[in-house]
This record gives sequence, C-alpha cells and structure tokens, in this order.
Amino acid sequence: MVNKDRKPEWAPVDAGKEFASRVKGAASSNARVAKAPHRPVTTRFSDLDALTDGVRQGNRTLLAKAITLIESNSSKHFDLGQELIRRLLPGSTDSIRIGVTGVPGAGKSTFIESFGLWLLEQGHKVAVLAIDPSSSLSKGSILGDKTRMEELSRHPNSFIRPSPSGGALGGVARKTRESILICEAAGYDVILIETVGVGQSEVTVRSMVDFFLLMQIAGAGDELQGIKKGIMELADLVVVNKADGDNIQAAELACRELNNALHYLRNATKGWTTKAMTCSAIQKTGLSEIWSAVSKFTEQGKLNGVFDERRQSQVINWFETLLTEAVLNRFHNDPDVKALLPQIRSEVERGSLPVVMAVQKLLR
Ligand code: GDP
Repeated sequence: MVNKDRKPEWAPVDAGKEFASRVKGAASSNARVAKAPHRPVTTRFSDLDALTDGVRQGNRTLLAKAITLIESNSSKHFDLGQELIRRLLPGSTDSIRIGVTGVPGAGKSTFIESFGLWLLEQGHKVAVLAIDPSSSLSKGSILGDKTRMEELSRHPNSFIRPSPSGGALGGVARKTRESILICEAAGYDVILIETVGVGQSEVTVRSMVDFFLLMQIAGAGDELQGIKKGIMELADLVVVNKADGDNIQAAELACRELNNALHYLRNATKGWTTKAMTCSAIQKTGLSEIWSAVSKFTEQGKLNGVFDERRQSQVINWFETLLTEAVLNRFHNDPDVKALLPQIRSEVERGSLPVVMAVQKLLR
C-alpha cells in the first residue's frame, strides 16, 4: 500500500498543510520507495545563506527546498521566499525558457523525456516545470507521476518539479515564474515548462517563456487541438508528434496542412515565421531539428533585440498584474469599503445612485 500522507523528500519533518506540493500516489512498483524511512532535510528555511549558496552551487536538494519555500502558502515563509529571490536576482539571460503545450495524449511528457535526454547529451542542464491549475481538482498533476520521465529524472543534470497544486491559475503561475528564476540561478540553461492544452493556461505560459512549442498529432481534430482557438497564434513552433510507423504519412500530411494554415495566421514573435515540423518522441527523431529551430530563434532574437524586449515586457506585465491584484485586495479588505460596499451596490442596482458617483464615493 502506498502511504498517501508521505511528504515530498524536500519538505521538513514538521511541515503542515502549507506545503502545496504533494507527491501523487505512486504505482505499486514504487511502493517500496514510499515505505522508505523519511529523511529530513536539515537546512532550515530561515538559513537563507545556506539556501542561496546551495542553489548557486546547483545542489538539487537545496534547489528543491528553495522552490518549496516559494511555493509555501504560509505567510511566515513569504518574506523569506521573496528575500531568497532577491538574492538570486538578476536572472540569467543565457537560459532559454521553452513552453510545451498540446492536448492530453499528444505526447508532451514522452517528448520532454526524449528531448530532455537529448539536450543533456549536448551538455545542457535541463529543468522541467509544469503549470496545471486544474491539478487540485483532478487530484493529480501533470509531471506528478515522475515515472513518466524516469530516465530524465534520474540524471544528475536534470531537475523535474511537478506543478504546484492547489489554487487559481494566478497563484500557480507566480510560483512557476519564481521557480524559473531559482532554476536559472542553479545553472539550468534550458527550462521546459509543460502545460495541458486546455484553456487559459497556455496564455499564462506564453507570458513567461521565450519560445512556445505547440504539440499536435495527426487526426485528433483541429477544433480540439486549438487551431481555431488562436493557440496557433501563440506558438513559435508547431510540432506534429508520433511521426513513426504507420503514422508517418498522416503526420507529414498534417504538417503540410499546418504549414498552409500558419501562412494565414499572425506570427507569435516579431520577425520570426512560425513553422510546423514532425517528430517522433518515441523514436527520438526530429529532436535536433527542433533544437535547431530554437537556437536560430534565440540567435536571431538576441541580434534584433526581440528576445530581451520580450523578457523585459514580460517582467513589467507581471509587475503590473501583481500590482493591480494587490491594489484590489487592499481596497476590498479596507473596513470602510467593506461596510459601505453592499449599500452602495444596492443603490446602484435600484438606480438611485449614478455609477460614476458610486465609484467616487467608495474611493474617497
Ligand atoms: P501527454 O498527455 O501529452 O503528456 O502524452 P504522453 O507523453 O503521456 O503520451 C501519450 C501516449 O502517446 C502514450 O501512450 C505514449 O507512449 C504515446 N506517444 C508519445 N509520443 C509518441 C510517439 O512519438 N510515437 C508514438 N507512436 N506514440 C507516442
């Protein structure tokens, strides 16, 4: 039997519910691991010097712990987490942040495992993060089951972290953004961020990555895969996966059709033409071509300034979003506003108070 209460190895022994990350119930083959005695991590969260040095030296246990700190929902950890980030800034510009999206079953995890291993062979350090705001509802999370990336997760130059669970997209996204910075400070130069291709999370991932890869499969239905939903316009590269065995021709046809469709769409990045190509995550074909596209994109973007401009505008947009949220929170938590708001709202509803005047009254 798997012990469901077992905490991740990076959580302190006395950790409570504030630790958002959970390890998904393991398959029976992992039960042995789950029963193993839990070894506490001795570095305390308050020992920021040790955490900062540990992250900078690429110590994976301390890196995991640093991420746990910023994922914590406890107010006593908030300031420590922010101070840690401050110490680790400025972030690296030598890294590449790649978002990977696609419908469930497109092969994202298989691709990340193959592509990640290929990148390791080329001498890169690869971190894999995920954004899955639905994981708290579905009681699991993408990447939650690390066995899906078994080989990659065992490699000393890779780091895999499941999606922070629990909470709205905004909260999950904040934690992932900060995790990116921490991974970069630890020397990871390729950051892969996986998200499920359903809904708003693609837009959020697009807003934190340099390069966005949309994974498609032949014959899965254009509507479903987001072709008509504008997701294609977020992508810097569309990859038709599973181009192997009997499926090669169908994949190549889908790729040609996608290239035709892309012709009529807006490109996601100034000066870069989004194209479609095929790959097989299982047979490990097309991986070097995908990396060539990423490298060309980065090289070109650094030459024409688009790369740095995007990172700057992403950080400013993030700042503006957080500022708006904070101001709204402060406003709604103000005791005067709390007392006045119901009455003013009902006056507006009844039509006895002009809307503009109602707003003015609340802001006074
Ligand atoms: P995800 O939900 O997008 O992460 O998809 P998975 O990586 O879990 O893959 C879904 C299924 O597709 C699994 O059964 C994989 O073995 C299979 N799959 C993934 N990549 C390939 C591929 O390149 N070729 C073939 N034939 N199957 C693949």
